[in-house]
Amino acid sequence: MKLYNTMSRKKEEFVPLTQGEVKMYSCGPTVYNYFHIGNARPFIIFDILRRYFEYRGSKVTFVQNFTDVDDKIINRAKNEGVSEKEISEKFIMEYFKDAEALNIRKANYHPKVTEHIPEIIDIIKRLEEKGLTYMLDGDVYYDTAKFEGYGKLGKQNLEDLEAGARVELAEGKRSISDFVLWKKQKPGEPAWKSPWGLGRPGWHIECSAMSMKYLGETIDIHSGGLDLIFPHHENEIAQSEGATGKEFARYWLHNGFLNVNNEKMSKSLGNFFTVHDISEHYDLEVLRMFMLSAHYRSPINFSDELLDQTKNALERLYNAKNNLQYLMDKTAEKDAAPEEQKLITRLGEYKNKFIEAMDDDLNTADALAAIFDLVRDVNGALNEESSKTAVKASLDMLMELSGVLGLLYKKEESLDAEIEALIEQRQQARKDKNWALADKIRDDLKAQGIILEDTPQGVKWKKA
Ligand code: AMP
Ligand code: ZN
Repeated sequence: MKLYNTMSRKKEEFVPLTQGEVKMYSCGPTVYNYFHIGNARPFIIFDILRRYFEYRGSKVTFVQNFTDVDDKIINRAKNEGVSEKEISEKFIMEYFKDAEALNIRKANYHPKVTEHIPEIIDIIKRLEEKGLTYMLDGDVYYDTAKFEGYGKLGKQNLEDLEAGARVELAEGKRSISDFVLWKKQKPGEPAWKSPWGLGRPGWHIECSAMSMKYLGETIDIHSGGLDLIFPHHENEIAQSEGATGKEFARYWLHNGFLNVNNEKMSKSLGNFFTVHDISEHYDLEVLRMFMLSAHYRSPINFSDELLDQTKNALERLYNAKNNLQYLMDKTAEKDAAPEEQKLITRLGEYKNKFIEAMDDDLNTADALAAIFDLVRDVNGALNEESSKTAVKASLDMLMELSGVLGLLYKKEESLDAEIEALIEQRQQARKDKNWALADKIRDDLKAQGIILEDTPQGVKWKKA
């Protein structure tokens, strides 16, 4: 498989440190709010990367952290008159709810900063021993000029920063790119004991500590959004490699940004949506599928129109699945006819096309196109006269490939429950002699492809 490595600015063949095992770390959310549709992009994309590695037979260990101490959390806690912990715990819970609705699997570990203070202090001490830090007004700073290779990930950003910085270097700071490892406590802020007094970690150090704790000093893949290349990931490298002298991560993957109606999403522009907001208007599987429609490194533009198009496309997949399930009940057990044998061969070709796309730096758009090719072919080729063998092979392949992308996960029961509820309403309408309503419910169901049959055992339904 080839993956684009931000470190080399090239697509590279992916070779894990240990054959058959992949160790991945992805920067997770700061839990002061519901996560927004931009955040949803890396969460979905790297969930798919993990699923794909597993599909190809690797054992994956995946870590995604929660930043649960941060200015934004502290401010929200103050405004609401509650503790920081109440805010972070609430939004961690909401993260899991929204992630589940998006079919984002739980990582193997979801570590929190507040539970890793000793590990964080330990790294800072090691950096201090190596002379890579200095104190400034009670804060501990990283002396970036002393780390050879500082800027190797975000070269351009560093140069831009330095070019703009000549004038505004804060007093006492040695270089513009120096960053804080440990912040002295300010009144009213949460703080922990440390060799440098009461305080809390700077933002970047947490990912170095948690990645190394759960995955070891060198990992295979470190990922996040494009905005994290510099300074966040640059600083993670300086901290981890500064402390260990070993390469921190071998492949750096970054997703492009999600824009709304071709503008940067921001609260001030009024185009800011959380996943929670979208869930009030759309099934979140539509949002998941939408994220796959562009290559993960390209920008993706979000609009209602595009989401509606995606909704229709997703319905096509569900219709195909439902139709194949219906044919599983209707078709006879018999050998596949020669034409059907050819169809079964073509199923293998769609799978190859799917794998080829995914192997090419996770090209989910082309992988999805392979699934739609399969659906079109199968829809035309199979009917009630077909063999169950051909129907089953088609359904299995559709579910196999969709499953790698985490699609077609809606439970059949929810549809069943809706239909059952409508049938019950119709029965009540008939009892009430409200024939108009009873007929309307029957016609509405018919429009959805559901046929009602009155049998001695009660009302049964089937798909047309
Ligand atoms: P945050 O909670 O802001 O640290 O972000 C969590 C993840 O979402 C990080 O990987 C960010 O790079 C990513 N991210 C934030 N905004 C966007 C956006 N508009 N489009 C894509 N990714 C984003
Ligand atoms: Zn991080």
